[in-house]
Amino acid sequence: MPDQDIHGGGCHCGAVRFEVTGSLPAFTACHCSQCRTWSGHYWAAAPVPHAAFRLTCGDGLAWHRSSNHARRGFCRDCGASLFWQDDAEAQIAVAGGAFDGPTSSRLTRHIFTDCAGDYYTPAAPPPLATPRSGRLTAGCLCGGVSFTLPGPARAVTACHCHQCRRLSGHFSASFDVDDAQLSYTARETLKSYRTAGGGERGFCGACGASLWFRARDGGFSVEAGCIRGATGGQLEEHIFTSEKGDYYEIADGLPQHPEW
Ligand SMILES: [Zn+2]
Ligand SMILES: [Zn+2]
Ligand SMILES: [Zn+2]
Repeated sequence: MPDQDIHGGGCHCGAVRFEVTGSLPAFTACHCSQCRTWSGHYWAAAPVPHAAFRLTCGDGLAWHRSSNHARRGFCRDCGASLFWQDDAEAQIAVAGGAFDGPTSSRLTRHIFTDCAGDYYTPAAPPPLATPRSGRLTAGCLCGGVSFTLPGPARAVTACHCHQCRRLSGHFSASFDVDDAQLSYTARETLKSYRTAGGGERGFCGACGASLWFRARDGGFSVEAGCIRGATGGQLEEHIFTSEKGDYYEIADGLPQHPEW
């Protein structure tokens, strides 16, 4: 009998690892406000039956109860957004960005598209940026981290690099800000993760929401998904598309750069 397909995956730092046996179901992209805050852009996952799913390392796994019927699993060490679990279902939604290799599956559905951010349109050109002045408010799902920053977001960049894909669960979208202009109103649960490239990624240690990235050279960007309400920004380009997942296409007509 031939070996069944095994799809390995995990978080960025390796403290959470899993295996899925058999072919992967189709992926669904969710644009609800929770998935957007949590992932930093929007989240995409495949519903894997419990019988096909095996956690092989749960050292870093933490759960955030995100509603009265569901919880979200993330890595408490690196903040990767990994799993969504409905209490009543014998399946677990596993992030597309978490898989090690090709998934050989497809993203076939976008849901809660009416909750998409103002800076993009799922699989279509982004809407024109709406003029907006004043400060933006941002924060995580659980309320442990919140901050304000100068608006509008202006140019938003989507990054499909391996690191962004692991950490966000799909791919990231962020915009540059002067970090001296950030003003925290809550930061009890703020954690940061040091990346191999000398960068630092801010996330909530209690709910796993993706918040910001500080590059080695000091450049600072905020994840567009953690902004509450309108950003006044507009997605302008995709970078590191040579590292994008095999389960989705970039279909919004924006410029794509294989590297940066
Ligand atoms: Zn991790
Ligand atoms: Zn939180
Ligand atoms: Zn990236």
